[in-house]
Amino acid sequence: MLGARRSPKIIPKITCGGCDARWTGLNAAHCSACHQTFSGIALFDMHRVIYACKDPTKVKHCGLPLRLDNGVWRSSHVDTRWNHRDTIR
Ligand SMILES: [Zn+2]
Ligand SMILES: [Zn+2]
Repeated sequence: MLGARRSPKIIPKITCGGCDARWTGLNAAHCSACHQTFSGIALFDMHRVIYACKDPTKVKHCGLPLRLDNGVWRSSHVDTRWNHRDTIR
């Protein structure tokens, strides 16, 4: 088919100036203090407590522990419907 050319999807790679972390996804949040990457700002917020960062292994979302996937901490809870951006804010 003419004209049905697919434009390649460019996934921006984001890097941190303070560590070797690289991640993709505009929703991802990298902590410049503890250098952990979270799949969403909500998870990021949960690991931040006053004056400090929580160990991501101790952060729970909806009662479930986070899991590390490709260097990014994700919630086990929203795993299957991550496409809904509003599921987690
Ligand atoms: Zn942190
Ligand atoms: Zn970093």
